[in-house]
Amino acid sequence: MHLELVTIGTELLLGQLVDTNGPALGRALAAIGVRVVRRTAVDDEPGAIADAVGDALRRTGAVLTTGGLGPTSDDVTKHAVAGLFGAALRFDDGVWAAIEERFRRLGRTPSPANRSQAEVPDGATVLPNRWGTAPGLWLEGGPGLVIMLPGVPGEMQRLLEHEVLPRLGARAGAGVVRSAVVRTTSIAESSVAARVGPLEPGLAPLTLAYLPTIRGVDLRLTAWQLEAAEADRRLEAGCRRLEEALPENAYGRDEDDLAAVLLATLRGRGDTLAVAESCTGGLLGARITAVPGSSEVFTGGLVCYADRLKLDLADLDPALLAAHGAVSEPVASALALGAARRLGATAAIGVTGIAGPGGGSEAKPVGTVCFGWVLGETRETGTYVFPGDRVEIRERAAQFALHRLVRLARGGPGAGAGR
Ligand code: ATP
Ligand code: MG
Repeated sequence: MHLELVTIGTELLLGQLVDTNGPALGRALAAIGVRVVRRTAVDDEPGAIADAVGDALRRTGAVLTTGGLGPTSDDVTKHAVAGLFGAALRFDDGVWAAIEERFRRLGRTPSPANRSQAEVPDGATVLPNRWGTAPGLWLEGGPGLVIMLPGVPGEMQRLLEHEVLPRLGARAGAGVVRSAVVRTTSIAESSVAARVGPLEPGLAPLTLAYLPTIRGVDLRLTAWQLEAAEADRRLEAGCRRLEEALPENAYGRDEDDLAAVLLATLRGRGDTLAVAESCTGGLLGARITAVPGSSEVFTGGLVCYADRLKLDLADLDPALLAAHGAVSEPVASALALGAARRLGATAAIGVTGIAGPGGGSEAKPVGTVCFGWVLGETRETGTYVFPGDRVEIRERAAQFALHRLVRLARGGPGAGAGR
């Protein structure tokens, strides 16, 4: 089945908002065997919406829109689409009751403007929205099929999952398109390819895609038009083979975050974690505390940016600082030990480096980051020069710091040598 997307919103065209709905829809629809063949963005303007949806219907016969279903004067999607079908808008008591109930739960009353959200084109099926006020609409008739979803990404996503995908899946026919991701880090894409490339023929009919990001290389396997259970079985086996080829670098699947993997690994060993950060300035602490339940393992972090605070907060020896400079392995190691001691943790990470764009030198170019890791009685240090701009260097440094501690905690091979 083929379908076109029309994303509605003047902000999208003015560049004030990045369209995340389009990509999210493309992925979710492909997973059930529906191909998005074109995506158009238009203004909050009835003529523009009618043109875009009308053209798409003539080409493809099936259109999904997002945006413009709200209660304000710029929300005109329903009117424009109803016009294409020659349908009038009618007031739907069921939708209105749901809107009133939602406001009641939140201790509020709907405003008169909200009444417009209860208007639906004649002949449309209402897709109830338990996560917001504007319901989705499914309108099918002579011109074809138009599915209208609200623009707010969270609402769009939930309506898609609960109301749209089941309906579309039923008509897309047998066979699903399903993917699974193996996440790797601390390894270049070319090195991943060298290890994984030879496996590729054996993975068929699954296809393999390399997705490099700042945090590592994701390997996505996709099963095309297979029966669901068969797709899942093959994807699981394929992921295992990739993980076996990259034992030190594969750390998780799909949306797994490395910080969550580290916390789970440390929790399993009964360890607790602290950090002392200079160049990452709290990024490590933020990554770690973004994980629900992190308080069971993470005691806290020191952001000791000024040298004075490295001495005061992490008990750094001034002689060490004078002898090696702030960006050095001895200082990184001392920061980690200081954090472990002062923050009462059995494991710790110290990070100090030059994120740029200024501050580099011949001996320590921009991107140079020194790490210290502590795990029980084990001490590790490493120095690494990361590519990229300031944002990338800090992100890469945080990821690398987390990953080395994961490997240490797993007792994996090669966990010892710093670079
Ligand atoms: P509401 O009921 O909130 O008014 P709506 O269906 O009218 O929803 P819009 O008003 O078009 O939707 O968009 C609401 C908000 O949703 C926008 O301010 C924007 O933050 C977000 N949004 C809309 N379209 C997109 C999109 N394509 N990608 C990402 N975010 C979007
Ligand atoms: Mg709106």
